[in-house]
Amino acid sequence: MRFRYEAVERMPKPLMPGVVYHSEEFEVGALLCACGCGHRVSLLVPDSHQVTAESGMATVRPSIAVCDAPCNSHYFITAGEVEWLRAFDPATSRAVMRKQIARHALGDPKPPFLQRVLAALGRAWAWLTSFGRPR
Ligand SMILES: [Zn+2]
Repeated sequence: MRFRYEAVERMPKPLMPGVVYHSEEFEVGALLCACGCGHRVSLLVPDSHQVTAESGMATVRPSIAVCDAPCNSHYFITAGEVEWLRAFDPATSRAVMRKQIARHALGDPKPPFLQRVLAALGRAWAWLTSFGRPR
């Protein structure tokens, strides 16, 4: 299976096999697991993964480790080509899962969206308060 790159605004459902979907706005990616098990793999961009396009084909870095599906697949996607890596043993995949959950829970106290809202509010406030100031 080869993966092409598709830029989307929102993740479609259902996903098509062989497509890495990427939403720059919402900073997420999604694909159906390359092993064909049908598991929906979600990528956090750019926290956990980088998704790029190379002449229409998808490249995902670092490797994708499917820890939350029975297939336990682990692979790179480079210019659409899947390169299989050794599956994590159960202990490692549990550790990866825990790390990802910890990053979700404790990682960034302000999600990017909130940061953008706060920045916009800050700019609006500066603009409003600029009127009273002597120039
Ligand atoms: Zn799979």
